[in-house]
Amino acid sequence: MKCHFYHVHGHLDQFLALDQLTPAERLNCACDKLAGLALDDSLSSGDVISRLLPGEDLVVLLDGSKATGDLERTITRSWGDKQARWHYHKHNIIPAHLFDSVYWDGVEKVLGGCSEMFSVWASKQVSGFNGNNHLQRYIDGRTVDECPNCGCRPERSTHMIYCRDPARSEVYSSSVDKLVTWLAGQNTDPELTALLSAYLRGRGDHSMLSLCRPYSRYCQLADMVDNLGLRNLLEGRIPRLFYDCRLADIQRRGLRKHAGHWCNGLILRLLQITHRQWTFRCGTVHLRGPDGLTSSQRDRLAQRCEDLLWTDPSTLLEDDRYLLALDFEDIGAAPSDTRQAWISEMEAARCAATYVPGSLDEDMTDDLPVPIDSEGSIRF
Ligand SMILES: [Zn+2]
Repeated sequence: MKCHFYHVHGHLDQFLALDQLTPAERLNCACDKLAGLALDDSLSSGDVISRLLPGEDLVVLLDGSKATGDLERTITRSWGDKQARWHYHKHNIIPAHLFDSVYWDGVEKVLGGCSEMFSVWASKQVSGFNGNNHLQRYIDGRTVDECPNCGCRPERSTHMIYCRDPARSEVYSSSVDKLVTWLAGQNTDPELTALLSAYLRGRGDHSMLSLCRPYSRYCQLADMVDNLGLRNLLEGRIPRLFYDCRLADIQRRGLRKHAGHWCNGLILRLLQITHRQWTFRCGTVHLRGPDGLTSSQRDRLAQRCEDLLWTDPSTLLEDDRYLLALDFEDIGAAPSDTRQAWISEMEAARCAATYVPGSLDEDMTDDLPVPIDSEGSIRF
C-alpha cells in the first residue's frame, strides 16, 4: 500500500463556512475539536501523562508547567504576567479575577509591531507616568496640577480620555468616526459597530449593556466591557470576548476574514484615539505661536488681563491709577508682550499699594509675575 502525503490547511473553519471546506479540511477541523475536547477532559480528570520525559537531565517548571523552547523568553513572560496582574489590580485598573479576560495576545502583537516611541507612550499612559501635570508638579513646584485644555484638577493620566474641552472633544469625536469607518471597511457586524460607536461617544455616561438591544448576541460582551471599563477599552485592553464574537460573526456570514487580525486592528485604533488626545494636549502646551507663547499660555495671559481689569482703582496708589485708565478693548487686542508688560506693571502697582516697610516677604514677591516658560507644563 502506497501513501501520499499532502498539506491540508488547518483551522479553515475560522474563515469559511463548513460547506466551503473540502472533505480533508473538514476532517482536519473535526480532529482539532476532538483533540481539544480530549485535552479538556484529561485535564479536568487529572488523567494525563507526566510531562517529564525519561532521560531529561534538567527540567524547568514555571507555575507547574514545563518550560520549553526559549527559556529566557518563557521566564520573562511568566514574571511579566505576574507583575502586570499585580500592577493592574493594585491600581484598580483590572481586578485580578478579570485579568485573564483581556485579549493580551492582541496587546502584545500590536505594541510589538508599532514604533518604539508609540510603545513607550502606551507604557507611560498605562503606568500613569505620561508627563501629566499631576506628576510634573513634583519636578517643578510652579507647575499647576490642572488640565491645560479644560482646567480640570487634578490632571492625571486617566483624564486623557475624559477631558470635555470642546476642541479636544471634537478631536475625540473625529477619532471615533475614523474607528467606525474602519469597522465598516472590515465588514464588522453593523450591530456591533453601532454599539461600540454609541458607547465610545458616551465616554462613560452609559454602560454598554444599557445600549444593547434586548436579547442581543452582544450582551455578554457588553457586560464584560462594562466590568473592565472605558479606560481599559481606550488603552487597548479589550475583552477576549471580542475575538469570540468576531469569530462567530465570520462563521455566521462566511466572511474571508481573520478574527485575530480584526482584534489587533481594533486595539490599535482604540489606542490611537487616546494617543490623539495626548498629542492634542501636548500641542496646547508645547506649540508656540509667533509671539513665543503656547495657546494655553496665551489663554492664561488673557484671563489674567481680564482679572486685573476689574481691579478697584481706589486700591492702587494715586500715581498708578493711570494703568486702569485705558481702553479695555485696546489691551484685549494688544500683542502678547504688551499685555505681559501691562500685567507686570499692574502687579507691581498692587504690591506697592499694599507695601508696608519691612513687610515685603516671600509671599508678596511670589505674587509678581514670573516669565512664562514651559517645557511640557504650565507655569506661572
Ligand atoms: Zn481636560
